[in-house]
Amino acid sequence: MNLLADRTKAFDSSGIRKVFDLAAKMKDPINFSIGQPDFDVPETIKEACIEAIRAGKNAYTVTQGVPALREKLQTRIDQQYGHKDRRVFVSLGTSGGLSLAMWSLINPGDEVLMFDPYFVMYPALTQLVGGVPVIVDTYPDFRIDLKKVAAAITPRTKMILLNSPANPTGVVASEEEVRGLAQLAAERNIVLISDEIYSSFCFDSPLVSAAKYNDRTLVIDGFSKSHGMTGWRLGYVHGPAEIIETMIKLQQYTFVCAPQPVQWAGVAAMDVSLGEQFAAYQRKRDLIYAGLADKYEVVKPGGAFYIFPKAPRGTGSEFVAKAIENNVLIIPGNIFSRRDTHFRISYAGSDEMIRRGIEVLRKLT
Ligand code: PMP
Repeated sequence: MNLLADRTKAFDSSGIRKVFDLAAKMKDPINFSIGQPDFDVPETIKEACIEAIRAGKNAYTVTQGVPALREKLQTRIDQQYGHKDRRVFVSLGTSGGLSLAMWSLINPGDEVLMFDPYFVMYPALTQLVGGVPVIVDTYPDFRIDLKKVAAAITPRTKMILLNSPANPTGVVASEEEVRGLAQLAAERNIVLISDEIYSSFCFDSPLVSAAKYNDRTLVIDGFSKSHGMTGWRLGYVHGPAEIIETMIKLQQYTFVCAPQPVQWAGVAAMDVSLGEQFAAYQRKRDLIYAGLADKYEVVKPGGAFYIFPKAPRGTGSEFVAKAIENNVLIIPGNIFSRRDTHFRISYAGSDEMIRRGIEVLRKLT
């Protein structure tokens, strides 16, 4: 008897499961697979969370988030953009924000443009609501070609998903690319979603948000990566009031609210900048890139904590199997792509681990 809803069958997670099945046999691997920073939540933020729990701030909050956090976010966003119609609410991580955006904006059959390689959730969440992922290829340099985007737009195009700095490539879109995309979306009346979860990890120049050039841009951001709080599930979304109000309405019937103590921790987190840690990640980026660039075809990443080299021979998956045999855990590119040619390294680890990993990877070419 098949009890599962049809919508669950549009995509599967077998690729990544296979990798983790292989990885289960590894002892003390050089682990380049983790999608989160290696620093812990700063003490003041932990204290704020514990303090909130002790003070009895443990109940539901209003759906859009406690006023202290929402107003602090709103003030910062107003200072940054000065858009009259830009509102913010607190979501359950960036993932919660992305889900609500899909539910709020996509009708069955609507097309959602995304750039390949893409963040794994994008095609899955699109298909979950009956949308159609439309893939715009960015190989080999992972830059956005506006002509390709324009050619991919049809009367059914409803949304464009932009992620910069990007998972899995670490590539940061240039100001020109962002402006062009923002203007194209505005002209064609397409919702532009800017997933800025890695905005703190932007090494060579500050991130330019698409919201700067298109005041209708829906920006999705959060504390997971910027403060090492991936398990705390705190994010926020800002954009046109009508869309935000609708997302809040849907949050009320689904996630209800972000965990209250974590929201208070978020208030404290907004005053904590981890500049030193981000500088350390820039050094790690330099280390891994310098260690691989003469042996692998690889684009120098400008942000996040990923690098996405091409497999030296065979498919990306075959190369990953070989790396795992040599105790290095990496993720095959086909998890994030229609192609199986590359692999993702997360260099969110110690310099020592990165050096050991480079040594093995250099031998595998
Ligand atoms: N967007 C991108 C591009 C990501 O890489 C991730 C986390 N891997 C998320 C969104 C989700 O992050 P969270 O839900 O923890 O905020």
